[in-house]
Amino acid sequence: MSMQIFGLAVSRGVAIGRAVLVASSRVDVAHYFVAPEQVQAEIERLKAARDEVVAELAVLQAELPADAPSELSALLDVHLMLLRDEMFIGATRQWIAERHYNAEWALSAQLEVMARQFDEMDDDYLRERKADIEQVIERMLQSLARGSGRGLPLPVGADAGAMRDFGGEQPLVLVAGDVAPADMLQFKRSVFTGFVTDVGGTHSHTAIVARSMDIPAVVGAREASRLMRQDDWVVIDGDAGVVIVDPPPMVLEEYRFRQRHSELERARLDRLRHTPAVTLDGQAVELLANIEMPADAAAALQAGAAGVGLFRTEFLFMNRGDDLPGEDEQFEAYREAVAAMKGLPVTIRTVDIGADKPLDRLSAAELRHGQALNPALGLRAIRWSLSEPGMFRQQLRAILRAAAHGRVRILVPMIAHMSEVRATLEAIARARRQLDDAGKPHGPVEVGAMIEVPAAALQVQSLLRHFDFISIGTNDLVQYLLAIDRADESVAHLYDPWHPAVLRLMAQTIATAGRMGRGVAVCGEMAGDPAFTHLLLAMGLRSFSMHPSRIAVIKQTLLRADTRKLAARLPQVLDAEDGAKACAQWLGDDASPA
Ligand code: PEP
Ligand code: MG
Repeated sequence: MSMQIFGLAVSRGVAIGRAVLVASSRVDVAHYFVAPEQVQAEIERLKAARDEVVAELAVLQAELPADAPSELSALLDVHLMLLRDEMFIGATRQWIAERHYNAEWALSAQLEVMARQFDEMDDDYLRERKADIEQVIERMLQSLARGSGRGLPLPVGADAGAMRDFGGEQPLVLVAGDVAPADMLQFKRSVFTGFVTDVGGTHSHTAIVARSMDIPAVVGAREASRLMRQDDWVVIDGDAGVVIVDPPPMVLEEYRFRQRHSELERARLDRLRHTPAVTLDGQAVELLANIEMPADAAAALQAGAAGVGLFRTEFLFMNRGDDLPGEDEQFEAYREAVAAMKGLPVTIRTVDIGADKPLDRLSAAELRHGQALNPALGLRAIRWSLSEPGMFRQQLRAILRAAAHGRVRILVPMIAHMSEVRATLEAIARARRQLDDAGKPHGPVEVGAMIEVPAAALQVQSLLRHFDFISIGTNDLVQYLLAIDRADESVAHLYDPWHPAVLRLMAQTIATAGRMGRGVAVCGEMAGDPAFTHLLLAMGLRSFSMHPSRIAVIKQTLLRADTRKLAARLPQVLDAEDGAKACAQWLGDDASPA
């Protein structure tokens, strides 16, 4: 039966496909299709993993001390019984044989099926046995990982397009409770064409990465992963934030039409790539790119970006366990981005670890379980870097070395205190001295501050005595100004970039930087949203940084703007009583030529 599920629209476009339900903790499990001739070998991998875990548990059981609690031995019995259960292994094998799923994917698909069966049981004791299944499958996944690269969506060297053909005449969409930002990076190389999550806000990092990859997505859909079944046909309407399960043929046809239409629209916008970004009244505007990985620089250049305005380097550090990238690895990554931009400036932000971007899965789980009481207000971004001075200087040395190969700027996230400014500038100076001592070449850099904490915005004049430029991170500025957790869907309706307090603070910040003759950019999501382009131009902004996929549409919007006329309309909007009125007033008249 057809059903609509409402969530938050976070990444535009339409995806149509069959639902693949994946437990949040297993979103990073490899998902790929195996070639028909490799199906048997994949089944053997599964069996080998099963046999290894059986042997492991048998040894554990044999070596249990005599005084061990009897429950422990009983638990091992249950796990061994499950592993030997032909129904469980047979059903998992079927995912491989019939769907051509890889063994890890087959296991997580089977886990989803069994978890639901357990959830529906009346008997408390039996219902709790779900944990046993989870543990057994976790052990098998670990065993598979020891044998091959778990965590990669495709085997190294595999080609996503080719893999897709084996099992996938039908497109697939991922449905999960949650997807961590770092896992999103794997999406591009995975078999999925869209995703739906139960939790998350429009400005969560998961949503931001989805937008940057142009993947249709709906987050905060609450019960979606419970209401949908494995294999349901699903339409993800990323523009409206709606998921339609089992759509009637007429609805499906309408969405297929919209899919084709947006492809045509995209092709039309692509033609603007080489058009200079200049308004009707001759104001040149700088359109920069936000990137997460050095490889994204190619898309930035392709989209016609004038440089990188925000390189979120923390993505190099996530999901690495204890194996964090050292100075040389980071240097290579930064140099790669610099080289790819072919002489255009690259703004490298020092790591913004913390809040919804913890270092690894373990801390992600801790955050979910509330161990860090208020992570967005806690040890995050520059606070984290200053608490790890060795790692901070390592990153700074890597950036300074990359600066010998092209135009590099350093951007410091979440600055709020003068003591942080001093400590950061001292760390940069010290990193430089260390490079001199080591005889390693380094280059000049401009240093900028992100304006994300209201205190920084209110004190921008003092900050600009120490920094060369500023970049307004509106995602966090809105979060901290309005006290709304950007990743929490339950307060997402209050996350309002149109709030007059937000607009006034931004206008004031941009004006101050302008008076002081310093560069000011906006690199939050507002910069890539055409609803705000004219308003930001009216405030005097001439530098916008956004995901490469947004550059064409923003350029199209500014090409039609006359900044003098826009500026004349600004005071009224800043005086609006609330966000709804500010929005209606601005966009209401905005339809008329600016
Ligand atoms: C912001 O806060 O607006 C920003 C660009 O940084 P991030 O989204 O990575 O926190
Ligand atoms: Mg931020």
